[in-house]
Amino acid sequence: MSGRYAPSPTGDLHIGNLRTAILAWAFARRAGLGFHMRMEDLDDRSHPEYYDRQLADLAAVGVDWDGEVLYQTSRIGRYTEIFDALRERGLLYECYCTRRELASVASAPHQPPGSYPGTCRYLTEAECAAGREKLSHMNRGPAFRLATDVSELAMVDRLAGEYSGTVDDFVIRRGDGAFSYNFVAVVDDGDFGISQIVRADDLLSSTPRQVYLQKLLGYDTPEYIHVPLVVNPAGQRLAKRDGAVTLTDLAKYGWSAHDVRALIFSSLGLAPDAEPSDVVPEEMPREPWVLDAATLEAGPSVLG
Ligand code: GLU
Ligand code: ZN
Repeated sequence: MSGRYAPSPTGDLHIGNLRTAILAWAFARRAGLGFHMRMEDLDDRSHPEYYDRQLADLAAVGVDWDGEVLYQTSRIGRYTEIFDALRERGLLYECYCTRRELASVASAPHQPPGSYPGTCRYLTEAECAAGREKLSHMNRGPAFRLATDVSELAMVDRLAGEYSGTVDDFVIRRGDGAFSYNFVAVVDDGDFGISQIVRADDLLSSTPRQVYLQKLLGYDTPEYIHVPLVVNPAGQRLAKRDGAVTLTDLAKYGWSAHDVRALIFSSLGLAPDAEPSDVVPEEMPREPWVLDAATLEAGPSVLG
């Protein structure tokens, strides 16, 4: 029984990532759960220099974890095994759609834009051969999609309550051979006994897909707690261009890691030296934290 934080090592963590990590850690520790760290390093933009920097920044703001850090690149054998088993069960089919084709096809009626309409699900052998031939000229193979038998699934989030969202025939393995985020996240969470998943609420809409796959693979459904994002004053997801947002940037303006932790706790309505037992999911603000990162350049005196 444990929680986890699963950063993508594609850059330094910013204050929004650190806030989500602190919440994931505090909710797990408060509930007496273990807490695991997982590097989602399958992303092409991952860079080894960020692994240790991210881990050092997490430790600096007070997050601790149990056991070794899990690197997804060390799990390809396991993902392949489950992929083969799904294929064996007849649950995967090849998709020959290019990015451009996907962008131009309309989603099925009553499905949100961007969801896959099932174009390649019932092709003839000749159509499949033509699809493979087309892709071979582009130096790629087909993607593999999950043949789902629902279009929507309801799940429960501790903050959002009952949430019903799209389950389309989502990608399990991409045309370049890489396993998809939804697939590897479900396998890792399932294999490592993750019983509580805390992450930013922009991922809530992909959770019904993950729950669907989890059930197919026989894993237990964990508790979900999707927490509000940190946004800039224009309401957009916080990003590096918004000003001083990483610990390294903030250090230049006099912020210690301890000050940053205090700022994050204050955004949660908590005392600067709060303990995990003080961090109650239901009592935290439900709206995004609007942060004007440029003002942090004035230094930690803004903490008051
Ligand atoms: N790697 C994802 C991120 O950094 C998190 C995925 C997850 O928690 O399931 O946004
Ligand atoms: Zn297709």
